[in-house]
This record gives sequence, structure tokens and C-alpha cells, in this order.
Amino acid sequence: MSGLPDPGSTPRTRVKRIPEKAVTDREVAYAILDAGLVAHVAVVTHGQPYVVPVGYARVGDEVIFHGSSASRLFKTLSTGAPTCLTVTLLDGLVLARSLFESSMHYRTVMALGTCRRLEGDDAVAALLDLSERLMPGRPSEARHPAPQELKATITLALPLVEISVKVGDGPPEDVPEDLVDPVYSRIWAGWVPITESFGEPMADEFATGIPVPDYVRAWRRS
Ligand SMILES: Cc1cc2nc3c(=O)[nH]c(=O)nc-3n(C[C@H](O)[C@H](O)[C@H](O)COP(=O)(O)OP(=O)(O)OC[C@H]3O[C@@H](n4cnc5c(N)ncnc54)[C@H](O)[C@@H]3O)c2cc1C
Repeated sequence: MSGLPDPGSTPRTRVKRIPEKAVTDREVAYAILDAGLVAHVAVVTHGQPYVVPVGYARVGDEVIFHGSSASRLFKTLSTGAPTCLTVTLLDGLVLARSLFESSMHYRTVMALGTCRRLEGDDAVAALLDLSERLMPGRPSEARHPAPQELKATITLALPLVEISVKVGDGPPEDVPEDLVDPVYSRIWAGWVPITESFGEPMADEFATGIPVPDYVRAWRRS
């Protein structure tokens, strides 16, 4: 990771609002990216911004994502158009004594830059990495992409050069007046953690009687 700027260290990634939530450790950024499954990716066409959710994987110092060759997002970004990618992990709701100070626990990464389109063997390797990341164990069993499927797919890599990280945690930050107010000091305040989990695997109509693979049973979220 040496040689890359610290998160939040460039003029346009410096966190200005509530800078105490900013994190400058690139390892933390990568841990957040590795814990997430969905990124929101921005593109502007004809002056209209669009923010599109996609599955992704971090591979080294890049984020990989893929989509249809007919997709506006993928067609536009493969021409080198600038983008902004965010990953948000929602960890809890923070209930302060005032609505104004109520907030959320979160971990976010924002990356700015331009994508490079992956072709040939690089695209195939990236697609397998992406599948392994989203569905650990599955690429060793499922059919790999056929030539016509690869042709219908654009695979992009966004270098994680200019990034920022924000982490919101801790108790509510009530204004001192509310903590001694005869009404509001008597209401419950704190936070409600949110955790993500997998449910029981459900076989489709063609897989009844086939045991659920161990690697699927092993999937967990934290
Ligand atoms: C789940 C969740 C809920 C939120 N709810 C609200 C809300 O209701 N209202 C609200 O005002 N804010 C909310 N935030 C915070 C919000 O994301 C912004 O950080 C905040 O609004 C400041 O925006 P700004 O453009 O003024 O930031 P600035 O500090 O001016 O942005 C400067 C730079 O800081 C970095 N940056 C800013 N925000 C983030 C971020 N979240 N993650 C990583 N890097 C960042 C970017 O590189 C950006 O270019 C929420 C965040 C999360 C994750």
C-alpha cells in the first residue's frame, strides 16, 4: 500500500464536516470495503447524476465491479469518465434526547477516480475474484463465464488512490441543556445496534434433494 495517499489527505477528500469522524488509516478503509457487498457508484450523463448500486470486491488496491455492456453506468465509466464510489455499513441507530442530535453508527469509504476496463484473461480473473468475494466457495462449483457472457459484460477496476473514510460510533451527543431538562432528561437514550445476517438457504425447484453445500452454510456476516 506504500506510495498511495492516506485517506482524506488530498484537497478533495479532506473531511470538513465533523472531521473527528474521519479515519486516515488505509487498513481501516480496506477492512470496511472487505466487510461490504454493495457499493454505490456515481455517473453523470447529459448533466444528470445517477447513483447506481452494484456488487463489488476489493482486490489489492482496486475495487472491481461488473455489469451489462448495454448499461449506461458501465458504458460511460469505461470511457474514463470520473466517478465517485461509496460503501456504507450501517451499524446502528443513535437515539439522542433531541431529534437533532439523533444519528447513526456507520462506517463509510468514498473513492474518487476513473476506472480502467479489464479485458481478456484479466477480466476473467477479476470476475472470478468478484464471485469468490460475493459468494465464497461458489466459483469452484458453478459454471464459469462463457465467451458470449464475457462479451455481454464490462468489468471495471477503480484504483483506490483518492479515498476518504468516516466512522460514526459512540453514545448520543446531547446538548447539555437536554441532560438536565425536567422532561427530556427522563427519556431513554442510547443506541440500537444493527447487524446483517444470512437466513436459511432455500433450494429452488430443481435443487430439491441436493444437500446445501458446506461453504454456503458457512456464510456469516459481522
Ligand atoms: C448511514 C449514514 C447516514 C448519514 N446521515 C446523514 C444525515 O442525515 N445528514 C447529514 O448531514 N449527514 C449524514 N451523514 C454524513 C454524510 O455522509 C456526510 O459526511 C455529511 O453530510 C457531510 O457532507 P459534506 O459534503 O458536507 O462533507 P465534507 O466534509 O464537506 O466532504 C469533504 C470530503 O469528505 C469526504 N467525506 C464526506 N462524507 C463522507 C463519508 N460519509 N464517508 C467517507 N468520506 C466522506 C469526501 O471525500 C468529501 O469529498 C450520514 C452518513 C452515513 C454513512
